[in-house]
Formats: sequence, C-alpha cells, structure tokens
Amino acid sequence: TVRVRFAPSPTGPLHIGGVRTALFNYLFAKKHGGSFLLRIEDTDQNRFVPGAEEYIVESLEWLGIPFDEGPGRDGGFGPYRQSERKHLYSAYAQQLVETSWAYYAFDTPEELDGLRMASEAEGKTFTYNWETREGLKNSLTLDQEEVAALLKQGAPYAIRFQWPLDTVITLKDLIRGEIRIDGNTLDDKVLFKSDGMPTYHLANIVDDHLMEISHVIRGEEWLPSLALHFQLYKAFGWEPPQFAHLPLIMKPQGKGKLSKRDGEKMGFPVFPLQWQDSPGYRESGYFPETVVNFLALLGWNPGTEQELFSREELVQAFDLDRVQKSGARFDPEKNKWYNHQYLQAKPISDLVPLFRTVLTGHGVEADSFSDAYLAQVVGLIRDRASFVHEFWGLGSYFFQAPTEFDPKAVSKQWKEGTPELMRSLAAELTAITPFTAADIEKAVTGWIQNNGLSFGQVMPPLRLVLVGALQGPHLYEIMELIGKEQTLTRIQYALE
Ligand code: GLU
Repeated sequence: TVRVRFAPSPTGPLHIGGVRTALFNYLFAKKHGGSFLLRIEDTDQNRFVPGAEEYIVESLEWLGIPFDEGPGRDGGFGPYRQSERKHLYSAYAQQLVETSWAYYAFDTPEELDGLRMASEAEGKTFTYNWETREGLKNSLTLDQEEVAALLKQGAPYAIRFQWPLDTVITLKDLIRGEIRIDGNTLDDKVLFKSDGMPTYHLANIVDDHLMEISHVIRGEEWLPSLALHFQLYKAFGWEPPQFAHLPLIMKPQGKGKLSKRDGEKMGFPVFPLQWQDSPGYRESGYFPETVVNFLALLGWNPGTEQELFSREELVQAFDLDRVQKSGARFDPEKNKWYNHQYLQAKPISDLVPLFRTVLTGHGVEADSFSDAYLAQVVGLIRDRASFVHEFWGLGSYFFQAPTEFDPKAVSKQWKEGTPELMRSLAAELTAITPFTAADIEKAVTGWIQNNGLSFGQVMPPLRLVLVGALQGPHLYEIMELIGKEQTLTRIQYALE
C-alpha cells in the first residue's frame, strides 16, 4: 500500500515550493489509492515559529488537498508532531551506538567553531569524519573508562553517525535513477543533539519507518542527505522506502532557485495564504484550483498538450515517471492566465458573492443591487478579467455614474455639435419602452440613419458619457442594464 508524507518543519510560512511537494505527494497517494500524511518536523526548538503549523494546515485545506492522517487526524500511527514523539528517538540513537554505527562526541560547540575557523583560514571546510575524528573527543578515540566517566559526569554529548571507511553507496531515486556516492567524502552527521532532541536525519528515518512510509517524495534540496538516509536504513536493518526528489523551482528569469525576493521584486505571491505582510495567492484573488493546476505542471507534464486539469484529472494523469530532473521555471504571467481560464469556466453564481464583497470594499451599497443584476454584469465583463477584483475596474459604471472621463478621448470625441446630438438622442431614448438592448439598438440605428448621421459621431461620445472611457461591452447592453433613468441622467450630467 502506498503511504506518503509531507513533512514540513514549522519554521515559517509554507512557500509555494513546499506546496508543490505536498501536492505531488497528495496526487501520488490518491492515484494509487494510498494515504497522504502530514507530519510536523519540529525537533529544532530554536527555529520553531508560532502559527506556522496552523498556517500549513489551513493552506492544505484551502487548496483542497487535505491530509488523511496528521495532527488531529489520527490514523493509528500518531502522534504526528515530532515534538510529541521525542521520547522515542534516543533509544534508536543508542541502538546505533551499540552496533557501532554511531558514536558519542563530546566536542563542545566552541571547540568545533575553533576547528571550523582554522580550516576556513586555510581555505578549507571542516568535515567531521574519518580524517579528523581521530584527533577529536569522542568514543572512538577516548578509551572506555574516559567515556564512561564523561557520561557519568553528565558531560554534554552528541551522537554522530560513523561513516565506515571506503564505502561506496549506491542510491536509487525514482526520478534521477542510480547515483553513486563515495562515503569518504561525507561527514559524520549528528543524529542526536546534546539538548536531548534528535536531528532531522534520525527523526525523519525513524518516523518514516514507524509510519510505514512507502515513498518519500520531497524537494531536490534533500538529495545530498540521501546517502545518509540509505545508510541509516541499512544500519537499522530496515527496508528503505522508495525515494523521489522533485526538481527545483527556478526564477521566472535568469538562473537560480525561486526566492521570496523574486516575488517581492516582481509583484507575485510566493505563499499560498497571506503571511504577515506578504500577500498570498488566496488574498490576491487566485482560485485554489488555479494554484493546484499550475503547481502540478511545475516539473511534471502529462505527455500531452493539455494544460487545464481539474484535481480529479490530475489524480488520474499524475505519475512520478513524468516528473523531470531539470529545474522548472516559475512563470507568474502564465499563472495569471490559468486564473483567467478558471474565472471564465466558473458558474456565474459562484462569482456573484465574491463580486459583492469587492463592491462593498469600494463603498458601493451592494445590497441595493440584486444577484440577477450582478450576474448580468459579470456575464458582460468577465472575459476581460483574470481576477474577480478586476471586475471593479472593468464595470464600476454599472454601479455608479462615472465621475472621471478619459481626457484624451474627450478632446477627440466631444466635438462642437456633440451636445446638440446628445440632447436629441436623449429625447429619442425617452420614448423607448421597454428599454431593452434590442429595442434601443433598433431605435438608435433608425435615428442615426434618418438624420443622416454616422455611428462615429454618436456612439463614442455616448460611450464616454455612460462609461467614462471608450472601452467596455456593447453599449446597448450597458444601457439596458443601467436602465433608462440612469442613461438619461448621465447624458444630462454631461450636458450641464
Ligand atoms: N522537515 C523536512 C523539510 O522541512 C522534511 C524533508 C523530507 O521530506 O524528508 O522539508
């Protein structure tokens, strides 16, 4: 059975790359009828950020990719917060010491800093491993009595993994294939810290094992840890899960990994939901379906030209063998295009309440307009919009008379004879009952022809008067919607 997990550390808001990891795990689980777990990796007490876990949970809910098991949703493998499992890990660390896969290290942080600085001065990086561990204070170099005495005194220690000399580790990754690593280049990573907490590596492996995780799907930044993780499974005598490392998400332009700064510079969100003063996709007017859709195609492709996928279609189409190795470029413009597509496809009745909120935000007494009226407006303007909040800029004149008139258009279209034309047009309009687009069209067209006028003399200034600018949907439909009285009032206002 497929069991996958999303295992964020609550060190801040979930960024868009993290969401992509969660999504691929979710899709893979659903595709194979498996379970999607949320595990909170909060063993690093210094980096804990209050509110981050709630933020993660709320984000997954908003996106519509809920977890099957996780905090508050027990599936028999809990608890799902590592801080609540901390009593578990030390026995596993001890087990590795007993089987000589790990050792005690008594070096103080100051001593280690000193070594690092000395190496740096020589232009090297300090590595705690087969080469250097010989001269350091640990249970491989000290004799047994010394170690026993230190432990008895309560001297702080870390437990480090001992890389056996001259090992070549062959790793298998579902996306990258086989990778060979020379064990002599790796460092003896800390598994258990002097504060009594496991490090990420130990807790992650122990929990993946205990939670019976079948596939580990995570970002490429964890690839360098894979050798250690494989070796830990071997050390424990456990069967490792299968691994798949997802490609990096790259900047919209240029090289390198997408960062929060790119979003700030170019004005697009990098978080699903608002976090402090950083906007989220939700608050920026994106639909959750949009975000799911564009994230799914960041590093995965269906092998066809199809770009629009519902969540169910994604579940059907998704698999790891179509995940690419190379980085996936993030394209904020394309993401807007996706939202445009979803906006066009939504039932208008879903958009009406959202539009109402936008109107209220602009000081309109939205209650005085019916749902049917809002629905008609949306029907006229939405093909020009990518976001509901753009409805205001595209259609404010449906709710209030324009107070500003595009000056360039005015100087071009408002000519000497225009007021006179508008006055007699108003008289013509007064007589039209019912005031429907079709009847208005018939009457206005007839009036233009009978008086030997041209459409160019009449329609642009009329549009300016009603809309304030030269853009917008069909004028006759606008007139029908705002009604005869409003139409006449606006013409009157322009004439005064
Ligand atoms: N806690 C790690 C993170 O923050 C999990 C990495 C993994 O999935 O193994 O991404």
